[in-house]
Amino acid sequence: MLASKREVPFFNYPHVYKQYKEEIDKAINDVCNRGAFILQNDLEEFEKNLANYSGAKYAIGVANGTDALIIANRAAGIGEGDEVIFSSHTYIATAASIYFAGGVPVPVECKADHMIDHEAVKKAITSKTKAIMPTQLNGRTSDMDALAKIAKENGLLIIEDAAQGLGAKFNDKQAGTFGLAGTISFYPAKTLGSFGDGGAILTSDEEIYEEMLLLRDHGRNSDGLVVAWGLNSRLDNLQAAILNLKLKHYDNDVKRRREIASIYQSNLENISELLLPPAPGSEENYFDVFQNYEIEATNRDELKPFLRENGIGAIIQWAGKTVHQFKDLNFNINLPYTEQMIKKSLLIPMNTSLTDEDVLYVCEKINSFYNN
Ligand SMILES: *Cc1c(COP(=O)(O)O)cnc(C)c1O
Repeated sequence: MLASKREVPFFNYPHVYKQYKEEIDKAINDVCNRGAFILQNDLEEFEKNLANYSGAKYAIGVANGTDALIIANRAAGIGEGDEVIFSSHTYIATAASIYFAGGVPVPVECKADHMIDHEAVKKAITSKTKAIMPTQLNGRTSDMDALAKIAKENGLLIIEDAAQGLGAKFNDKQAGTFGLAGTISFYPAKTLGSFGDGGAILTSDEEIYEEMLLLRDHGRNSDGLVVAWGLNSRLDNLQAAILNLKLKHYDNDVKRRREIASIYQSNLENISELLLPPAPGSEENYFDVFQNYEIEATNRDELKPFLRENGIGAIIQWAGKTVHQFKDLNFNINLPYTEQMIKKSLLIPMNTSLTDEDVLYVCEKINSFYNN
């Protein structure tokens, strides 16, 4: 029997608060009553817990995931004319962070799992290349052994854009901990979402850690003396307190995301017009956290409005263009695989507010679209 029509929005913003409302209300009250707003204990505690969780030696809370990338690039010494290779299938912030550090963003192709294409990375290396910046997209990591090998052979740094990757693992090591530094975003719709903008940088290198602490707070050292040019990019103490309590539930949230991915897998895998992301548990080396559930769909441009008519929110990300396709940025290159992929790419609902019935309803509608 067909399920009756229901609304399945792509993302449920109020849920970011409601899921843990009571605990969050208490934390907000507590922070506000203490007047503990900037660089206070809650931030320090969150940084410790985040470092512990990820396996990095240090975590630094910053204003957002984009600043996290800019600060990481600056601290890593990316500067004037330095080329940094990244996958064009990413958020503009990846490339912008290279640009704002003074470097040259070099976009390359992705692979069928939507991670950076290692062969394309190799081909893009020049005498000016300084770093590789893989985007750990959709809550999955690239094959980091293969990437580390390329970096090592060519004397390059790895700086991870793990904005979408908190908790994702490759060979039991977490996204954000493979290179010199890795960055996380706490944008509300991210897997660990704050109530506004927020971000963090992970590193196990003490020297770069000290440098990044200066960069996020006006270049001031612990005595308040300015010893470098810096930014105002601190993670609000209030956001840190909220994130700290959400981090305690994070493994549960990830578990739920993987359950949803499994439901999609078993109900959509027989549709020949779709390419699904790798199923949870299907690969030994990978543990994906499913920030997004990105499919490639034949007739995507008809499927999306069909889902909309049936109450389902699906999203074409990056306005349907990968980074090198934004004409005004003047990349003037072609990346044929990526350009074909993005025409079929569609994000279907993936978040912890979804019930099994919601997910099954989405599957039923997609099946009916393809006459399955
Ligand atoms: C969200 C995101 C960012 C930027 O994070 P903000 O916190 O929004 O600044 C960077 N890269 C990727 C891949 C992202 O998804």
